[in-house]
Amino acid sequence: MKLLDRLPEVEGRLREDANLSKVTWFQVGGPADVLFKPKGEGDLSNFLKNTPADIPVFVLGVGSNLLVRDGGYRGVVVRLGRDFTGMDVLDGHKVRVGAGALDGNVARFVASHSLTGAEFLIGIPGSIGGALRMNAGAYGSEVKDIFVSAVALDRQGMRHELTAADMAFSYRHCGIPKDWIFTEAVFQLHPGDEVEISKAMQEIAKNREDSQPVKSRTGGSTFANPEGKKAWELVDSVGGRGLTIGGAQVSEKHCNFLINNGDATARDLEAVGEEVRRRVFKEHDTLLRWEIVRIGEEGSVE
Ligand SMILES: Cc1cc2nc3c(=O)[nH]c(=O)nc-3n(C[C@H](O)[C@H](O)[C@H](O)COP(=O)(O)OP(=O)(O)OC[C@H]3O[C@@H](n4cnc5c(N)ncnc54)[C@H](O)[C@@H]3O)c2cc1C
Repeated sequence: MKLLDRLPEVEGRLREDANLSKVTWFQVGGPADVLFKPKGEGDLSNFLKNTPADIPVFVLGVGSNLLVRDGGYRGVVVRLGRDFTGMDVLDGHKVRVGAGALDGNVARFVASHSLTGAEFLIGIPGSIGGALRMNAGAYGSEVKDIFVSAVALDRQGMRHELTAADMAFSYRHCGIPKDWIFTEAVFQLHPGDEVEISKAMQEIAKNREDSQPVKSRTGGSTFANPEGKKAWELVDSVGGRGLTIGGAQVSEKHCNFLINNGDATARDLEAVGEEVRRRVFKEHDTLLRWEIVRIGEEGSVE
């Protein structure tokens, strides 16, 4: 029986054999068996509740920290669309934002209400769901610093309201089970001056362009910084900068970024990353941890 026939009826959209290279920054990787765009939280909850437990389900943000392997994903990939991009200001200088909202849009929304604290989000090209999952951060701030609460659905479709303690944030990580899907979050900001806030955001955006390959097909920081060390320095020290395998290259501009030069496969990208890890381990006895999330099966490119 094909996968689609085992899935419940939904209000949103189910698409078979969906090309994931179109929806990730690296622009590589094979298809998902099924891509599901739910129509709101109720539809998503109903889908999770009625989808047999043996069917793998993965939630995608905007794929800015994700490598999909060439063989694609066997199961359902969920993508939160417009129904999950709402933003409101609540009492006490808080904002509630949908998990599908882009970090940059949230930063601009917050700034337009003369609230400060979310400027760092302007430089992170992901969605709020990805930011919660990865405890995304930049310039000394991270999601943990502004977090008040979040809502997530578990694999059975049960709704959970999560506190900061539940989230168990650590560096580029949160402790919520991997198969839970965030649908919204509340952040705490502070009153500020709109002009100052927008100046700070412009500076962040400029710094980014100067130091990172933000216009390339990339996946953000490849490796998490090991305790007390910088991943990029370790990569640089073993001759990683510019290292190339097939169409994949360690960025010359920032050597903790991998680049698809145009014709890379996921296998090339993973291979160049693994080569760097091997060298760093050999020379520094430090095993770099992949920060980029990798999913799917190895396979050939169609
Ligand atoms: C040019 C560039 C610069 C970057 N700079 C930074 C930076 O400064 N700081 C930083 O922290 N990151 C940075 N990143 C990495 C990336 O933008 C962040 O990790 C971002 O939070 C990922 O969000 P996403 O929506 O793209 O998630 P994806 O890449 O799609 O997914 C990443 C993980 O989040 C999970 N996820 C996504 N949505 C949800 C949801 N709704 N519920 C549960 N889990 C979810 C996915 O399942 C996956 O495990 C950069 C990336 C690029 C390409």
